[in-house]
Amino acid sequence: MAHGDPKIVPIHNFRMENLTRWHIVEATCFRCRHTERVAHDRLWRGRTQHERIKDLAVRLRCKQCGNRTNNALSVRIMPRD
Ligand SMILES: [Zn+2]
Repeated sequence: MAHGDPKIVPIHNFRMENLTRWHIVEATCFRCRHTERVAHDRLWRGRTQHERIKDLAVRLRCKQCGNRTNNALSVRIMPRD
């Protein structure tokens, strides 16, 4: 991995309270594979800090095909140097 690339963050135990402005959250559609960045304020809507981010994927709707089943979230973190 080249220096300066965002690093993948394991999300098994990643909770909303762990989210900082350095994190990049992306959703991938199960049906059409469309991937889009999810704004933090969209993630926070109706959420509490103890919720696990992987549990939020089920609420997301694909902007391309409208699918809301089995969508996946991934989190990366920007290098801070
Ligand atoms: Zn889709």
